[in-house]
Amino acid sequence: MRTTVMESKRIVVKVGTSTLTHPNGHLHLGRMEALVRQLSDLQAEGRQLVLVTSGAVGAGMGRLGMTQRPSETRLKQALAAVGQGLLMHRYEALFAEYGRAVGQMLLTRQDFEDAHRREIAAGVFDQLLAWGVIPIVNENDSVSNEQIRVGDNDTLAARVAAMIGADLLILLSDVDGLYTEDPRGKTGLSPLAEVATDDDLEAMAGGAGTATGTGGMITKVQAARICAGAGIRMVLANGGAPGVLRSILAGETVGTFFGEVAGI
Ligand code: GLU
Repeated sequence: MRTTVMESKRIVVKVGTSTLTHPNGHLHLGRMEALVRQLSDLQAEGRQLVLVTSGAVGAGMGRLGMTQRPSETRLKQALAAVGQGLLMHRYEALFAEYGRAVGQMLLTRQDFEDAHRREIAAGVFDQLLAWGVIPIVNENDSVSNEQIRVGDNDTLAARVAAMIGADLLILLSDVDGLYTEDPRGKTGLSPLAEVATDDDLEAMAGGAGTATGTGGMITKVQAARICAGAGIRMVLANGGAPGVLRSILAGETVGTFFGEVAGI
């Protein structure tokens, strides 16, 4: 139920490249600013926030004047090495304006699969949150190849949410939510307000993805399944909508809520 969303204390918010960067790869400062302001406000209400951010590769492209996202892993890793610092620099400056401190957590698949490493990472998250620091998470792209990476930040965010025992995961994308059919090029369709994770979500998600992000809709459904397995609620909403986080936490019907009938 949406009322359980309002009560969430420990919240992971994931924001995708399509929300954070312009199509040419440059950081979308207006969106970042709005996001940081809302996160700071929510923290002031006594909630604990973790931000999972994409955009390292995109920001690296913008910095080096590349307009085409390369497909070769080594190039993306090198671009992430350039862009991750730019991303953090920007977040650090924006959060500092609201008197908030941030901490960078770069993770890879082994940090979830190896119990010892998982425990170490979870302990650091707990410490940061206890200090009131906002952890900013991304995959450690520069040293992660196909064999050892999570691969997309929707899954990464869901795994972080499970690792730290979050109450809620919010995925911000460039779509308004989950639709029963691909909404692109069609008018008059609205996203589903609520879906149960025992529905055939994969069929609904088929092809209805975003043009610029890594994951598309399938990874969002996968994230919903990880959350359902861990008893975590999830909302998928449009990161470009003004005040979207505030609206979600106020219990408004924004985006798609996952988990209702499954009893979460
Ligand atoms: N970690 C990648 C980046 O920061 C993005 C992965 C994703 O968008 O899912 O560019």
